[in-house]
Amino acid sequence: MSVSKKNSDDKKNKQTIIVRVICIVLALLMLGGVIAATVLSTQAVGEDVTETDVTETDVTETTEPEQTVPEETENNSVFSASDYLIRVGISFRDGTLDSHRVRTHKGAPGFRLYKTTKSNGLEYIWTLYNNDVSVSETGNLRRSSGDEWYYYASASNTAAGGYHLQLLNEYTSRKEAEQAISDLKDAAEALEVPVFPAYLNGKYYIRVGAFGSADQAESEKEVIENALASECSVTSPTITSITVLDHNTAEVLFDFDMEDFEYGLGLYCLDNNGEKDYIKTYKGYYYDGVFEFRRYKNSSVDGVTMILISELETYVTCVVPWEIYNTWPVETMKAFSICARTFAIANSHENAKHKDYDCDVCDSSDCQVCKGFDRVNQNVINGVKATEGQILLCDGETITTYYTDLGGGSMAAAHEVWNMDKRKYLVGQMTPWEDLSVSRFGDWQFTATPTELLQKVRNAGYTNLKGAVDDIKINRLCENSTYVYSITITDTYGTSVTINRCRNVRNALSGLMYAANFVIEHNGRIEDGINHELQEVISGVYVMTSDGIKMIDGEQRINVVTDNGLKQEYLPERLTVKTSSSLVSQTVLIKTGEIIGSGTGSPSSDFKFIGHGNGHGVGASQWGCKDLGNLGYTYDQILYTYYPNTAVADYWEYLSSKE
Ligand SMILES: [Zn+2]
Repeated sequence: MSVSKKNSDDKKNKQTIIVRVICIVLALLMLGGVIAATVLSTQAVGEDVTETDVTETDVTETTEPEQTVPEETENNSVFSASDYLIRVGISFRDGTLDSHRVRTHKGAPGFRLYKTTKSNGLEYIWTLYNNDVSVSETGNLRRSSGDEWYYYASASNTAAGGYHLQLLNEYTSRKEAEQAISDLKDAAEALEVPVFPAYLNGKYYIRVGAFGSADQAESEKEVIENALASECSVTSPTITSITVLDHNTAEVLFDFDMEDFEYGLGLYCLDNNGEKDYIKTYKGYYYDGVFEFRRYKNSSVDGVTMILISELETYVTCVVPWEIYNTWPVETMKAFSICARTFAIANSHENAKHKDYDCDVCDSSDCQVCKGFDRVNQNVINGVKATEGQILLCDGETITTYYTDLGGGSMAAAHEVWNMDKRKYLVGQMTPWEDLSVSRFGDWQFTATPTELLQKVRNAGYTNLKGAVDDIKINRLCENSTYVYSITITDTYGTSVTINRCRNVRNALSGLMYAANFVIEHNGRIEDGINHELQEVISGVYVMTSDGIKMIDGEQRINVVTDNGLKQEYLPERLTVKTSSSLVSQTVLIKTGEIIGSGTGSPSSDFKFIGHGNGHGVGASQWGCKDLGNLGYTYDQILYTYYPNTAVADYWEYLSSKE
C-alpha cells in the first residue's frame, strides 16, 4: 500500500536534532496492515456537471377521449400506479419560507398544478403558462431587496396584496372556469386588474385584483362589479391558502385553498416543445417530480414547505452523484445505488424519517444529499439502472447503510463507536486495500501542547481535569480494528478521566483528528494501544548527516555526524536508537520503505495525533468502495465486504413480505 509522503519534507525541516548518536527514529508502526484514508466530503464531490445525460422518467400521458385541447388533459399523470414514491423535504423545518421561487430548467412554458395529499395523491387541477413563479403564503407580500424572495408585508408595503374580489359563480370543472375567465378577458383588460382562477375546496372560482386590505378591496368593488357585470365578495387570506405569483411582476396567477393542512399544491414541469423538462429551485437544482407546497404552522414555524415527490429510482439517481463522485467505477455506482435505495425504503412511508413535516427524507446529509440532476451522467444512470429495485437486507430486514468518507485502513463496529446494539453487518475489520494517498484524510497529524490539550478536553465537558495533560493512554482498540475505543487522560495533578467509545474519544479530542483511528506520539514514545514499548517500529529512520537531517533506509550508506566527527555508516537492519534525552532506547527494525509516521530528534512533551481516515468509520468506506471497484470487485462483492452477513434482494418482494 502506498502511503503519502507529502508531509515528510516539511517535517524534516522542523527537526532539530542533536547529534551524538546517530539516529533518531521515526516511523511508526504498522500494526497489522494498515491504513488510512480519506473520506469524501459530500459537498466536495462536484466535478463535471453534465446536463445532457439526464434520465428520462416515463410520464404516461393518457388523453381523455372528448378532450379538445390535446396537450393538457385531466388525466395526465406524473407517476404510474406501481411507482414507489419518496417525499423529499427540500424546504421545511427552519427552511420553511413565506415564498419559494421555482422555474423550468430548459424553458418549458409552465407547470401543471395538482391538488396533493400527504399520501402522494395527485389530482390535476390547472395548467399554468408561466415558467418563473413564486409559490407563497396568501397575504400581503413584499419583495426582498435581491428580488429573490417575497415576504409577508404590511398593507402599505406590498408588491402583491392578499385581498381579492371573488365572483359569486362557482365552477365544478377546470374547463368551465377556463371558459369563464376567457369570457372576462376583454373587460378585465379594460379595467387593468388581474383576473385569475382560484381552486377552493374542490371548486373553481374567479378572483379579481390584489389589494392590501379588505377596505381597499371593498372600495373597488362597485367599479369592478359593474365592469364585469357580476357580483363579487371580498376575500381575505387564510392560514391554509397558497398563492402563485408571477415572480417578476408579482401578478397573482392562482390561488389555492382547501382550508385544511392535509392538502398541498403540486407543481410539475410541462414539456418543452415535446422534450422533457425539469422543475428548478431558486438555487438552480433541477428535479423530475412534483414540488408540493403546503402551509405549515407550529409553535416555531409558519409558512410554506416545499417537498419533492419523486419516483424512487429517479430519487436514487439524484442521490448517488452527490454521495460519491460520478466518475468512479460503475460497480461502485451500483453498490451505492443499492445503499441509497435501501436507505430510502427503510426511511419512508410508515417509517418516514421526517414524519412530523410530512416528508420521508430530507435533501441533506442528515439523510442523503439529493440536489437533482446536476451531477448525473451516463455512469450514474448505468449504475442505478443495473441495480433497479435492489436493496440490501440482513436477516430479512433492511440494513442501515452507514458509510464514512474514508476508513483509513480499518473500520470499526457500530456498537463500539456509538452507544447502540451490536449489528452483525456493522463490524470492525481491516481494509488494507484503501488507497490512502487520495487526499489529506489519508495521512494526517495534529499536535497540541499539554495546555492546549487540557483546554480542548475541558471544552468537551471533562472539567474535572485541572492541570495540563501529562499523559494519554490508549486502553484498547476496537475489535479487529485500529480505531481507538478507550483512552485515559491524566493531568499534572494526577487526576484522570477514562473515555470509552470512538465517538466520545473523537469528541473529547475534537479538532485533533479526522477519525478515531490514530496513535499518539508523546515524549519520544508512540502510544498505539498495542505495543506500548514499541519494539517493532517499521520504516524510515532520520539521521543527522553532513547535509542536514535525512531520512534513510537500511540499504544506504551515508555520511553521519557522530560525536567523534563525520563518519560513513552503513545502517544495519537492527540498531539501537536513542534520543537526546535518553527517554527511548529500543531496538527498531529498519525496512526500506516510506515513512508512515514522523519522528522528532528530541522528544517533545507535545501530543501528536497521527492517524488515517475521515468520519465515524462505520459500515462502508466511500473511497474504499471505489478502490474495490478498481480492483475488479463486483457491486455485490463490494457490499458484502463492507456489510458482511447481508444479501441483495428485490424491494418489491421485501415490501410484499411485510404486508
Ligand atoms: Zn433528514
